[in-house]
Amino acid sequence: MGMSYRRYLAGARIYGCSECKTHLATIHSMLSRAFNGQHGRAYLFDTVVNVVEGEPVDRQMTTGNHTVRDIYCVKCQRILGWKYDRAYDPTQKYKEGKFILERNLLIDVQ
Ligand SMILES: [Zn+2]
Repeated sequence: MGMSYRRYLAGARIYGCSECKTHLATIHSMLSRAFNGQHGRAYLFDTVVNVVEGEPVDRQMTTGNHTVRDIYCVKCQRILGWKYDRAYDPTQKYKEGKFILERNLLIDVQ
């Protein structure tokens, strides 16, 4: 995919891909722990690095219809969660541009 360049994060707590340990996000960019992913609990982040975004698709969730993109680890290509492009319900607009990472697919890098 030609995207082997990876960013390294610094900070108190860094979450990485459980498969290849690529840095993904810090505790400081975490917005919520109260989300559900495809595989259980998930976290909402303001910023995520080292991911590739897939094509936008509409997905019906418990909180209404959303346009989302699956996000893949730039190194191992594993699907780690998704990005919200658009929330149709006005009360869910705060999610737009934000990222979901599945807790089960994350490890503490440090
Ligand atoms: Zn990975």
